[in-house]
This record gives sequence, C-alpha cells and structure tokens, in this order.
Amino acid sequence: MAAIYKTDLLIIGSGLAGMSAAVFAANRNIRAVVTGGAGGFEYSSGLMDLWGASLTKQYEITKKPWTMLEKLRDQDPDHPLVRIKKETIQQAFLEITTALKHQGLTYSGYEEKNTLVMTPFGTLRPTYRLPSAMRSNSEAVRKKEPCLILDFKGLREFSAVFVREMMKKNWKDLRAKTLEFPDTRLQKEMFTPFLARSLETGQVQDKFLTLIRSAVKDETWLGLPAILGIYSSEKILNLLEAQTGLKIFEIPTSPVSVPGIRLREALVKALENTSVTLLQNQRVTKIIPRPKGEFHCEAGSDINPVAIRADALLLATGRFLGGGLYADRKSIREPLLGLPVYQPENRNQWHSRNYFDPSGHRINRAGVKTDDLLRPVFPDKRPVFKTLFASGTILARQDWVRTRCGAGLSIATGFKAIESYLGLREQPVEI
Ligand SMILES: Cc1cc2nc3c(=O)[nH]c(=O)nc-3n(C[C@H](O)[C@H](O)[C@H](O)COP(=O)(O)OP(=O)(O)OC[C@H]3O[C@@H](n4cnc5c(N)ncnc54)[C@H](O)[C@@H]3O)c2cc1C
Repeated sequence: MAAIYKTDLLIIGSGLAGMSAAVFAANRNIRAVVTGGAGGFEYSSGLMDLWGASLTKQYEITKKPWTMLEKLRDQDPDHPLVRIKKETIQQAFLEITTALKHQGLTYSGYEEKNTLVMTPFGTLRPTYRLPSAMRSNSEAVRKKEPCLILDFKGLREFSAVFVREMMKKNWKDLRAKTLEFPDTRLQKEMFTPFLARSLETGQVQDKFLTLIRSAVKDETWLGLPAILGIYSSEKILNLLEAQTGLKIFEIPTSPVSVPGIRLREALVKALENTSVTLLQNQRVTKIIPRPKGEFHCEAGSDINPVAIRADALLLATGRFLGGGLYADRKSIREPLLGLPVYQPENRNQWHSRNYFDPSGHRINRAGVKTDDLLRPVFPDKRPVFKTLFASGTILARQDWVRTRCGAGLSIATGFKAIESYLGLREQPVEI
C-alpha cells in the first residue's frame, strides 16, 4: 500500500535549486513536499557563485558579477538570471544565508563584488559567498605572509606541494608539508569526508592540534584541505585558531567535497519542524495532470511506493547528471512531463569543435524555457500548466559551468518560483 501525501506544492528535486526553494517555502509557511536525491552537492565546492566569467575579455574571470549581469541584459535578455531583478537576487541570497547561519554555517562576502579564493589547483577563482571556514583563504592570498599548506598521507583529492608549486612565483613564504592524520596509520587511501567526520570528535581534535603545532615553524597562516568537520566546521575552526594562534583556512577540494555535504546537511536541518516535508531519495516516476489543475504523482519504488497529490509543482530536477534532462542519439528530452526543450536543431550542433570555445557548447544552453513567472512554456510562449514552475539548472539559455553562476542561478530562480507560486495562489478566483 502506497504512502499518500496531499500537499499544496511538490518540489521535485533536492539539489541546491530544490532545497533552497524548499527553505523559501518553509519561511512562507507553504505546505510543501520536496523529493529527490543528493543532487550536485557532493560535487560542489560549497562556494556560492553568482557570476564569475568576464563578458568582455575571453577566458577571463570577473570580480564584478553585477556589472556582468547588466551587460548580459543586452547580450541575452532571455537568460534566467537577467530576468530577475538585482534586489530579488540579493534578497534570495540573504534569505538562504540567514537560514544557513541559523544552522551554524555562516556564509559571507561582499554585496557588490566577488571574492577570489585559492583552489586545490593553486589558481584563484571568484565567488560571491564563501563559508566561514574559507573566509581567511582570500585574506591569506592577498597578504602573502608566511603560510603553511598541509596535506595528509593517503589523501588523493588534495596536494599541498602542487598548490605551493603553482603559487610560489608570487608567494615566496609558502611551505608545503604532508602529515599523517591521527589514527590513520593502517589506512592506505583516504577521502576528505572520512577526515571531516573524524575531526568532529574531541579526541581527534586534540591529536590534530598536537600535529599542527609540530608542523608549524614561523608561519602565521595555515591552509588545509576542506576537512574541518561536517556539522561543526565553525566550532572546529575557532577551536584550532584559539589553541594555535594561527589564522587557519580551508581550500576547496575536488569531489567528493566536504563543504558541499555541509551545505546539504545544513539545508536538511533548516527544513526540520517546518511546513515542508523532505522525502529523501524518492524519485518521481509519473505525473498525471488532473482536470482541475492539480497533479497526481507517483514516486518511490515497487516495494516502497509513494503517491503525492499536489496543487502545484516546482520542477528542480537539474540537467543530465540529476536526470532532469535526457539526451538520446537525436534530441534532448525532459523525461517527466515531456516539456518542450529548447535545444540546437540537430546533434551536430551540440558541441563546438574547439573544446575551449569561449562561447561555450550549445548543448549547455539547452533546457526548459519559461515565462516571467518561471512557468515552462510552449514555443508560442503559453505556459504548459498554470501551476507548474521550474528552477535551477534545468532552465534554458544558461551555461552555469562556463559562466560560474551555479548557486546564484539555483537560489535566485528558486526564490522567484516560490514568489510566483504565492502570487498566483493569492490571486482572486474567477467565478
Ligand atoms: C562538479 C560540480 C561542481 C560545482 N561547483 C559549484 C561551485 O563551486 N559553485 C557553485 O555556485 N555551484 C557549483 N556547482 C553547481 C551547483 O551545485 C548547482 O547550482 C546545483 O547543482 C544546483 O543544481 P540543481 O539543483 O538545478 O540540480 P542538481 O543538483 O543536479 O539536482 C537535481 C535534483 O533533482 C533530482 N531529480 C531528478 N529527477 C528527479 C525525479 N524524477 N524525481 C525526483 N527527483 C529528481 C535529483 O535527484 C537531484 O536531487 C557545482 C556542480 C557540480 C556538478
């Protein structure tokens, strides 16, 4: 017998787009259900980008996201981020970072400009909001005072020597050292989530402190791969700094990424005891639109089926990785509702011959087109359903990887979709 849910809004997808929309819904006391898998969180650096690519100089990054979005308004007025007002995007970031702060995960950054953060490749990359464990990362890069970068035996995602080699030309007092992480002598291979979970315990924190003290010479700064806990990164950072007198910062690592996991865990916690129910790892398999505008949805598996009746839907199912878009040999489809997908005319046009083509690959701009309320539309611009909305990377015309706008796109469109849903719900009923 299927578990049955009846809800006002079903958010399909629990990547950053779906989870942030769920938080916005909870803040407005909207009765909602959110379903889906882990999304891109575990791959993401945990940094929140708004816009990081220059639109004037090919291949360059920018510290001015708002100037670029203003330029984009002329170049591509249909880009989903351009269709949302600056104040609305700012409000969305503020609301989501406030919710995260309440869960002990503080994000900071400038209102008008990006911050440059050191990467595991020894390069600098722009971002709009960064977690507090990475706050001193950009300050260290700016000041270039004596700094020690550590890595750990058996850890493959991060190499301190590589970072030093890449940065030493402009930062002479940068030293790299490899240590054995406490209690891992028998471990041949290690991953950052394992180290982060170990550091949640007081016993390992004490041993880690001793290790750091033995490694530091005359440095005042200490850079680590992102391993400072999953749930208590701020507490662990504060403890280590207070006990060593060092300025400590994390450097994002390649996937699997601890800051991405932290972000997801904090959003999950933010939904506890709210009007939103989270159905983790449940995939919607079928949607049947009903005559009065509501939707009957089936989710789960044969063994554990779930039926959800929702008055409105928010589709935040991501792109190819998440399963929101599907490419066969000839075309790209939206598999759940068969929505029209904006895409190149034929497969030959999906990719440019030059992998590094500064204008990108056209397949990355494929997706679902919407009206100003973020409702998917037919080619003649009519909404497919009155109460179907879409947010995040499933949207057409954005190329978030190239333009570095992943989190900004997901958060801003999630916010706008929830506002649109509320606006429609509160409209007087026609008699
Ligand atoms: C490798 C990588 C690195 C990244 N790094 C950064 C970064 O440094 N900074 C930044 O700002 N952004 C980054 N991002 C992007 C950021 O993570 C995206 O903004 C984020 O993935 C949000 O996308 P989304 O929620 O639209 O889709 P996804 O994260 O793909 O989530 C889609 C969700 O939909 C669910 N779903 C799909 N189909 C169904 C179905 N039928 N039923 C139920 N659920 C379904 C999936 O299970 C998943 O939960 C990165 C992403 C990746 C992949």
